[in-house]
Parts: sequence; structure tokens; C-alpha cells
Amino acid sequence: MNYLPIFADVRNKLCLVVGGGEVAKRKAGVLLEAGAKVRVVAPQIDDELAGQKNVESVVARFEASHLDGATLVIAATNDREVNKLVSGLAQARNLPVNVVDDPELCSFIMPAILDRSPLMVAFSSGGASPVLTRLLRGKLETLIPQNYSRLAAFAERFRELVKTRVTNPAKRRIFWENALEGVVAEKVLTGDESSAEAMLQQMLASEDNIQRGEVYLVGAGPGDPDLLTFRALRLMQKADVVVYDNLVSKPIVEMTRRDAQRIFVGKKRDDHTLRQEEINELLVRLAKEGKRVLRLKGGDPFIFGRGGEEIETLAAENIPFQVVPGITAASGVASYAGIPLTHRDYAQSCMFVTGNLKDGTMNLDWAALSRPKQTVVVYMGLHGLNTLCAKLIEHGMPQDTPIAIVQQGTTQNQRVITGTLATLPGIAEREKPQAPTLIIVGGVVTLHKKLAWFHPQQK
Ligand code: SAH
Repeated sequence: MNYLPIFADVRNKLCLVVGGGEVAKRKAGVLLEAGAKVRVVAPQIDDELAGQKNVESVVARFEASHLDGATLVIAATNDREVNKLVSGLAQARNLPVNVVDDPELCSFIMPAILDRSPLMVAFSSGGASPVLTRLLRGKLETLIPQNYSRLAAFAERFRELVKTRVTNPAKRRIFWENALEGVVAEKVLTGDESSAEAMLQQMLASEDNIQRGEVYLVGAGPGDPDLLTFRALRLMQKADVVVYDNLVSKPIVEMTRRDAQRIFVGKKRDDHTLRQEEINELLVRLAKEGKRVLRLKGGDPFIFGRGGEEIETLAAENIPFQVVPGITAASGVASYAGIPLTHRDYAQSCMFVTGNLKDGTMNLDWAALSRPKQTVVVYMGLHGLNTLCAKLIEHGMPQDTPIAIVQQGTTQNQRVITGTLATLPGIAEREKPQAPTLIIVGGVVTLHKKLAWFHPQQK
């Protein structure tokens, strides 16, 4: 973050605008809308601007005394020297100053705004691309109905009442989300505020009407945030607490609600920050506190994710939950690496196996894995790569069967290392792939060279 976004209260405060043309008029207009009193200083001032209520026009060249009494300053002249002078003098007095289109001279910048007062959305690219900012604003403009203003005003009207009735902050937030996402909001948006109010009062009448805690077991996909589902994203924005582990990529964790509590629960190989039983208990405890808990897991929660164990505990404790599938590593990684898992020329079936058994050994059905015309995807297998290759050869798979290790698939660090059953262990030793890695065995691996796509800088 290059700038701290804040909303300033300028009601009845004096703000100085230096400049008297179109740009100055626009800036003064925003200040006036926010309730400020505006002093405009310029040798020539646009008539319309000068004539507005709450505008004090000073027809003169700018000088230091014009800053007296001001709480905020905007320079909007087309003379850089004047703008520089304004900026310098204002900053010497610790007054916040904005110079239009000249970030170097600014102590604050003005965002693009979407006004649904009292609801207000401010946009900024920190000067990187004002056009992009405006495009984004345009998109959201169409998404947020005009009468959101009305909804915000309604919420404001009942804010205090709800605060005194629902004293637990977590419950209060849930109360408001139910109100603002459900029928109450619908009524307000269609203009029927009296029905909306009746419904709100009914919700307030009993604590039981306020939703209990619940758990969302959500698959976050293999790494690239673009591979999240819409539902995952919606729940990520809604949860009060996020419980996540190692496999969930940082950009995805950062897409969860800003003020949600984030709890990291491990696990790297052999380094379990919390044991599985402790995670299960944690989920139960948080939900019982009335929180909406997002259990965010890499890939798909039901594929080697122990998601099943987590919801078994929830079910036993009668805690509501939902499971959101994610793109599992095999699927995401194969797509990004250009390895179609069941290409008809090479495979009739595809197996997902784990290379990491409960007791640390690799005791797989080698005969089944070694059959021709199939693809084998091994999760958590890097540690046992040597055993894997040796056993497959021992059970009749040709030594020159193609095999790939994909490191951190779908992320910027994706790397595909290919070889054969005979050569890959040696290659991997040299290349030292970084976790997480997925192993793919079978003829389809040869397609990687032909079909790989991804960032041009892919290693
Ligand atoms: N539930 C997850 C798998 C959890 S097991 C899923 O559906 O994908 C963890 C293993 O998944 C890792 O050891 C690795 O083998 C694999 N894995 C997960 N994300 C990966 C990624 N981005 N690239 C390569 N392998 C990945």
C-alpha cells in the first residue's frame, strides 16, 4: 500500500482552492458536496464558481496568508511554479495538500469516487493508472444500484437500536448481514421501508433469529487466485475467522475479508503446527462462539485434504457447514503444465494416489499402478520419488516411461521437470524442486513440451 485511504470530515471547515478555472471548479465542487466552506484564490475566477454558496472568492495572486484558517489545500492552477509554492507553504504548516495531476507535490491524493451517500466508495491506483481506476469505477457503478443510498440510510437509522439490542459484536455483524443481504434489503430497495422496518423489529425480537455460527469448508484451488470459485470468493468475504494452512497461497489468504481473524494451522511435512484433532476442535469452538468460520484448504477439500475428518466432527456437534469444491492440484497443475491427463492416445484412466502414508511408508498397489495406458498422479510423493520409480519398474513399467515433477503448479513459480522412470530421481536431486510438488507418470507427460502454456518467463 503506497497510500493510506481515509475519509476526512470537512463539514463547515475552510478549505483552500488555488486556481479559478475548470479544474478548480470541479475540485471545489467535491469539497462543497462534502459540506466544506471553500476559499478560492486566483487572479481570475470562473463566475459560476465564484457565485456558489459557501464560496469565498479572493481575486488575487496566491500568497501565504491565504492559507490562514484552512484545514486542507488543493492547488489547481496550470502554473507549476504557483502549484509548487502552494504545496511548499502548505506542507511547512503541516496542512494536507493536493496538487492536481502532480503526485510529487501532493501530501494526499484524491480518489475517484462512487457516491451512494452515506455509502461511499473511493478508488485509487496510487497514481499508477488513473484510467484503470476510472474503468473500475465504471464497472462498479453499474453493479451497485442507485438506491443503495437508501439502504445505507436505513441501516444508519437503526444502527444505535441494533447496537443496544444485540450486544455481541460478532452476532451483530451477522444480524446486519442477514438484514442487508436478505428480504429487509429487498424491501428497502423497492421503497417499502415500513415493511422493512417491521421485519427488522421482528429479527430483533429474539436472539434465535440471529444466525448461529457455521463452518465453510472451502477449496482454494492449487494456487492461482483466478482458479477460485465464485462461491469460495463470496464466503471468503463473509467469514469472521479464516483457518488456513500451508498450501493456501498468500494472495488468496489476502482476498479474505480484511478484518477477519486469520489463524494459520500448519502443515509442512513433519511440521504440524496444529494436529488434525486440534484443528477439528478449533473449528467447533469457533463456530460455537457464533462465528462464521472459513476453513480454507488447498485444492479440493475432499481430495487428500482430510476435509472429511473435519466435517465429521462438525456433524457430530450439530454445527451447520457447507463444503465448496476447489480445483484439485492434479487438475490445475496438469492444465497449466500442458499435460492432458486422459489424452486418448496415451491413457484410458487416471489414478490419484498419495505417496505419503500414515506411517510414513509408501505402500501402494504397485501392480495396479504399473498397468499400461493409464496416468498416475502422485500427491505428496516427492519424498518417495526413488521408491516410486524403482517399484514401478520392478512391476513391469518400462524404464523409459515419461514422468514429470511439477513444482508449485499454477503459480508464478511453476516449474516442470521431466524425465523417465530411470532418469528422474537423478535429475530431481540436481534440480531440487520446491514444495508443493505433484508427480505425473505416463505417456501424457510427453505432451507437455508441445502443449505447455503459462507465463513466458516460466522456468
Ligand atoms: N487437497 C489438495 C491436496 C492436499 S495434499 C488438492 O486437492 O490439491 C498436498 C499435496 O498436494 C502436495 O504435497 C502436492 O503433492 C499437491 N499440491 C497441492 N498444490 C499443489 C501445487 N500448486 N503444485 C503442485 N502440487 C500441489
